[in-house]
Amino acid sequence: MKNEFIVEARNLCKSYGSFQALKRVSLQVRRGEIYGLIGDNGAGKTTFLKLVAGQSYLTEGELLLFGKSDMSEQNRQRKRMGVLIEEPGFYSQLSVEKNLEYYRIQKGIPGKEAVEQALELTNLTGVRKKLGKQLSLGMRQRLGLAIALLGEPELLLLDEPINGLDPSGIIEMRQLFNRLCREKNITILISSHILSELEQVADLYGFLDQGILMEQIRRDDLQEKCSNYIEIRVSDPERYCVLLDRRLPGQKYQVRPDRAVWILQPEESADYYGMLAGEEGIGIYELEQHRVSLEEYFLKLKETSRASQGIQ
Ligand code: ATP
Repeated sequence: MKNEFIVEARNLCKSYGSFQALKRVSLQVRRGEIYGLIGDNGAGKTTFLKLVAGQSYLTEGELLLFGKSDMSEQNRQRKRMGVLIEEPGFYSQLSVEKNLEYYRIQKGIPGKEAVEQALELTNLTGVRKKLGKQLSLGMRQRLGLAIALLGEPELLLLDEPINGLDPSGIIEMRQLFNRLCREKNITILISSHILSELEQVADLYGFLDQGILMEQIRRDDLQEKCSNYIEIRVSDPERYCVLLDRRLPGQKYQVRPDRAVWILQPEESADYYGMLAGEEGIGIYELEQHRVSLEEYFLKLKETSRASQGIQ
């Protein structure tokens, strides 16, 4: 079923003693989507994932897994999940293959093909004989993922799986997540403290700060908010727009108040847009390149959220 919620939190709260790690968090993860939970260290990401994984219990609110809120029913539903939270645990003296075989038996998964499938999905087939202690960080993360993938889970919970990887390792992991989601229809809930690590990966982002879910935003909307644009204020915006249509057909723009035109996702440099106006004798009052990075967007969101609560 499309649009089915695999995970749904309703006003979820989690306290450790008097400390509130999650404050009325409401979020929804849909089947077949990748959900990116973004937040600084200590924001509450691991706490949330542990609640979903059944490694910890909520204090208040409601959590639905595969549409079920009943605790014993949820424990049954958890067999449909693969979990990678914190350091992937495996045996350093055992090979990649033997580690997977160990976990297959421990999880009660019949048939050795499960190991082959996990090796193949995570591109570990070539290093199957390597011992756990001989693996690079990227390979260790992939082995952790392979263990989580045993038994063909419908939902993967991944806590900071790209933390510490080098740029090519990050790209490889991103491709893998996309493949698992698009080809295997696995729903993925993934956390990161670096928004740009999950750029182009998640369909929906949830921004968490100090236990509060500040915003849920779809990838396209986020991209739009973080897009680049050039602002040019000219003496004759109408004529300038006709010129734009003629010279750069396809170029998106918006006419703004005060004789400003915003060139959205510019195809050319700012100088080019100024030169265009100059060539036609259109006066230029202002020409400025605006860029909002993903990190700036997140920072701004935090500032606004904290200010509204009177926190520094
Ligand atoms: P990180 O990326 O550092 O793991 P996080 O977003 O996953 O950060 P959590 O590990 O969920 O954050 O921690 C949220 C807050 O709850 C932190 O202030 C942490 O110190 C606190 N916390 C987590 N686990 C416990 C615990 N068992 N007892 C007391 N406080 C805890």
